[in-house]
Amino acid sequence: MEVDYIVIGAGSAGCAVAGKLAEGGKHSVLLVEAGGENRSPLVEMPRGWVRLWQNPKHFWLFPVEAQTGRPAGEQWAYGKGLGGSSAVNGTLYSRGQPADFDPWQEHGPEWSWAQMERVYREMEDFRGPAPHPSRGKGGPLQITELDGSRFKPVFDAVFKAAAAMGLPYQPDINAPGQSGIGYSQVTINARGRRSTAYGAFLKSLHPLSNLQIVTEAVTQRILLRDGRAVGVEVEQGGRRLIYTARREVILCAGVLNSPKILQLSGLGPAALLQRQGIKVAIDLPAVGDNLREQVMLTRSYRLHGAAGLNREFRGWRLWRNLLEYYLFGRGVMSYAASELTAFLPFGSDPSWPRVQMSISPYSFSAQSGEKAEPGRGAPDPFPGISITCMFLRPRSTGRLSLQSTDARAAPRIEANWLSDPQDRTDVAGLFRYMDRLMRRPEFGGLVGEETFPKDGATTDAEILASVMQNFGCGLHGTGTCRMGRDPGTSVVDSRARVHGVTNLRVADCSIMPTLISGGTNGPAMAVGRRVAELILEDATPS
Ligand SMILES: Cc1cc2nc3c(=O)[nH]c(=O)nc-3n(C[C@H](O)[C@H](O)[C@H](O)COP(=O)(O)OP(=O)(O)OC[C@H]3O[C@@H](n4cnc5c(N)ncnc54)[C@H](O)[C@@H]3O)c2cc1C
Repeated sequence: MEVDYIVIGAGSAGCAVAGKLAEGGKHSVLLVEAGGENRSPLVEMPRGWVRLWQNPKHFWLFPVEAQTGRPAGEQWAYGKGLGGSSAVNGTLYSRGQPADFDPWQEHGPEWSWAQMERVYREMEDFRGPAPHPSRGKGGPLQITELDGSRFKPVFDAVFKAAAAMGLPYQPDINAPGQSGIGYSQVTINARGRRSTAYGAFLKSLHPLSNLQIVTEAVTQRILLRDGRAVGVEVEQGGRRLIYTARREVILCAGVLNSPKILQLSGLGPAALLQRQGIKVAIDLPAVGDNLREQVMLTRSYRLHGAAGLNREFRGWRLWRNLLEYYLFGRGVMSYAASELTAFLPFGSDPSWPRVQMSISPYSFSAQSGEKAEPGRGAPDPFPGISITCMFLRPRSTGRLSLQSTDARAAPRIEANWLSDPQDRTDVAGLFRYMDRLMRRPEFGGLVGEETFPKDGATTDAEILASVMQNFGCGLHGTGTCRMGRDPGTSVVDSRARVHGVTNLRVADCSIMPTLISGGTNGPAMAVGRRVAELILEDATPS
């Protein structure tokens, strides 16, 4: 098969790229996705992700190298199938901050907050009650705001406690450049269904004669001829297929698979490729380097004087909630993650928050000693409240390298969690901050004793040991094919073109040169749409 553009990976960014390129019907586009169609009703139901968690049909599983202080068997899970991680994520929607994107101008004029704000405005259909003027209405991606009325007394107490700690209430938590607390915004539509990147950017276009989507098709490598990308080699149902691109190949396989596919194609650190017996096409030392992840800390407490959500996930209440969801598209199964979101400056510039905080009246697994992680174990048998903080911009970086020539195999991942001393000081401070907030007098007895991690850590060393054992991976990875001018330290230029190769771009979280201050689903889609604009600008009439 020969088409104008081949897009590898139907995730948050890949769907945005393919949709934009196919719009208007001018160019033929082939989207190649390793996973399936993600038709499970548990994908559509926002709370369903807890049941899908780490199911290999819907997730790529990536074992992480052992690290002193971390629990054994750490594994990261990113989404697979149409929609990619947007089909299985926590649905919290954030855009990142102006101060995240403006420094990208150092790599080229294509990037700035002004550009990204326009892209967000065009792609959003925000249905919140008090949208900031920069928010979009009528775009393909439906975003709603969670309704907290059911837990009003608890949330009013949280707002008062937060205000006392210097965090004002924000009517639109995604207004640019500010700290504060407000109701969470989510990629969930007005009927309570998850808005995936596939649903937003492609479903309405498909079937479209110039857009073809193949699923269960694993890209093995990108085919290069005379320094040009000319197509892809794909494995589908045990067969090897070759697809040819007349114009370009766009790699959108995500932060861990995009660098792996480049390395499989002979684009990466020469010594590493030679060790794997791969012919070096171009020595690009930065492929797989600069892996940046966010650190997710959780503390849970008993909730007094309110029933909370824990009991809603058990027995007859669970059945009632499922029925309510399927009949009316509302209720506790129609939202995921947490009802409240805050952005905290945490000791630095209030216009560039360093911590994203979520608060919700449920708690997991404190009794059984399991980690408070989505999908692991059961909700506590008593009412609980959890506070989760995402440490957004750690300095520590990890790395990823190929350890097999099979595209289905996981690469070697060295996380190097908190290897920077300043990160260790910061997370210990954050852990203390979380407890200070939950013990504010404004809660008036609503919040009781800690139930997770509940290990009595008080000294810096004890806190750090507890944090190392208990934090979760943010699953907001970036940077492994980072953008920049220098082929020695970066992988793509500011138009997302791979250094030294013609007709090959990368467009997903991997090209982000620095971390985003928030979840990465919205930013991945916005980056995808921006790169597609650049591709169309560069397209010469054929
Ligand atoms: C469990 C989880 C919860 C999260 N929660 C949130 C949240 O609440 N809010 C938020 O903002 N962010 C969240 N994130 C992060 C966010 O969803 C991701 O950062 C974002 O979706 C990544 O987009 P992407 O396009 O870079 O990659 P992905 O969306 O991961 O897409 C990559 C796609 O490429 C495909 N692919 C990979 N290799 C191949 C191959 N060889 N051949 C063909 N196809 C291939 C994959 O199957 C996948 O479909 C979460 C992530 C996860 C995993």
